[in-house]
Amino acid sequence: MERLGIFGGTFDPPHLGHMILAAEAADQLSLDRVLWMLSPAPPHKLHQRITPFNCRAELVRACIQHEPKFELSLIENERPGPHFTSDTLLCLREKFANSTIVLLTGSDSMNDFYDWHEPQLILDRIDEMGVMNRPGDKIDWIHMESVFPNIMQKIRLIDAPLLEISSTEIRERIASNHHYRYYLNEEVFRMIETNHYYQKTQSFLETLKSDAD
Ligand code: ATP
Ligand code: MG
Repeated sequence: MERLGIFGGTFDPPHLGHMILAAEAADQLSLDRVLWMLSPAPPHKLHQRITPFNCRAELVRACIQHEPKFELSLIENERPGPHFTSDTLLCLREKFANSTIVLLTGSDSMNDFYDWHEPQLILDRIDEMGVMNRPGDKIDWIHMESVFPNIMQKIRLIDAPLLEISSTEIRERIASNHHYRYYLNEEVFRMIETNHYYQKTQSFLETLKSDAD
């Protein structure tokens, strides 16, 4: 049976932290494929400006192009929002009926799990959950288990060095003209440079225009 990793994110932009998480998950959890599931407008990020979906899709494509196990999934863009993971998992279950579904997440998202929409349904709809640590996020598994009994049966911890890289930090570095190149794949760096993404001077209208092109 195929072991399928589902790696959801805003990927604004995708960075080496994402690559390491996906690659370590594939290695340590013996995944045959990892679907990078791009979120159109995550319910918890509605208050912030997000780069248009098509631009982020191009960045993710560039980021994963040399890794045959990684694929971009646009499945969340195929229905109107809000895009709750519990609903998406129903679609994925149908589409990949013969796969073992392993949901991948960093520890910050895992710590927010209580606030996700229908968390128990999410757990019921996956086979395993791969969790990778991020700096500063200790997960209280005992408390987690008191709220979601049996969750530990599905949790698989991914062991990797802590990487203090985030898209937010990269966007801020670009906007303030600081170094950011080596936190990204070379192709992603080039695409950001060419399109002037995340620079303070770029107006929202310009961003929208590049999405329409
Ligand atoms: P932002 O700062 O915009 O929230 P981000 O770097 O957190 O961006 P997301 O697209 O929000 O990236 O994250 C997608 C998934 O990748 C989440 O599950 C997140 O926890 C995980 N992730 C992101 N960066 C890292 C990292 N450096 N180490 C481990 N996991 C990470
Ligand atoms: Mg994040």
